Amino acid sequence: MENEEKHPQSALETDFLVLLYYCFTPIEDPETFREEHHIWCLAHHLKGRIIVASEGINGTISGLRVDCEAYMQYVKSYSRFKDIDFKVETTQAHTFEKMHVRIKDEIVHSGLTHIKPWERTGKHLEPAEFKQMKGQDDVILVDFRSTYEHSVGHFKGAVTLDIENFRDFPEKMEELSKFKDKKIITYCTGGIKCEKASAFLLEQGFENVYQLHGGIIKYGIEEGGEDFEGKCYVFDNRVAVDVNKVNPKIVSTCFVCGTLSDRMVNCANPICNNHIPICENCGWQKDGACSAECKVHPEKRAYDGTGYYQKTPNGYNPYIGLVRKRPDNF
Ligand SMILES: [Zn+2]
Ligand SMILES: [Zn+2]
Repeated sequence: MENEEKHPQSALETDFLVLLYYCFTPIEDPETFREEHHIWCLAHHLKGRIIVASEGINGTISGLRVDCEAYMQYVKSYSRFKDIDFKVETTQAHTFEKMHVRIKDEIVHSGLTHIKPWERTGKHLEPAEFKQMKGQDDVILVDFRSTYEHSVGHFKGAVTLDIENFRDFPEKMEELSKFKDKKIITYCTGGIKCEKASAFLLEQGFENVYQLHGGIIKYGIEEGGEDFEGKCYVFDNRVAVDVNKVNPKIVSTCFVCGTLSDRMVNCANPICNNHIPICENCGWQKDGACSAECKVHPEKRAYDGTGYYQKTPNGYNPYIGLVRKRPDNF
């Protein structure tokens, strides 16, 4: 076709993908693995955040489709990661500014280092199975994300926990004890928290524990997100994404004026950095701040209408760990 000749570069070649993934599996030498992995990612122009620990890998990265596809093949070429599940979304550009590959004690901070999900965890439900089960009488959905996340979006009827960080959830177990005779389905953004949370529930004596495999994101991609009300908070510069293409609904209100709004922003005052919904109008009026005090804070960041701010690097150097050889002619 004439059109194709004028535009030889197909959409596929300029498409970007966002990959969200994790895998719990023992890694004997995380430092060596981290370095190899980091070098590979830099060589393939990928950006994002990857955490490596002796219990596995957890990452969100963006890159050109061709690079992301090569990455998925590369990761799956390790036998320990052969069952890794990638959530793949398309986008128009990188959703991160830099490539970070870091070593941590856990791939998701729970404080429960003794829990090994590859040994025992809640039964995985694929999105289609979850869709079937979620409305049944003896089923309780439990959201294991933090308050700033579930307040902007959650499954209809889900039990939520008022926690600032995932690691605080064990303190809230008392609130769940009344559901011990029910079927519990845990869910979170991409599934990783549920690997530990559902294992913890089993340890606490809950017997019928299930988890939404791949989390809200995979359920949105594969099943259209039915009954997810509001938006799903994500950890890249998109801030929050739509999940539900079936029966969407806004559940959050503007922090400033109280009208229905699902525009998630971070407060422009870095010391506050409140994660909140602020409507378009209030965003501009308050210059991205959540209060009058934050608006005049000396360190307030410039508001560009998105409410997303680059994290300060804290001395992180993406080239640390890379062996740089000085060329002979210098
Ligand atoms: Zn408002
Ligand atoms: Zn603020």
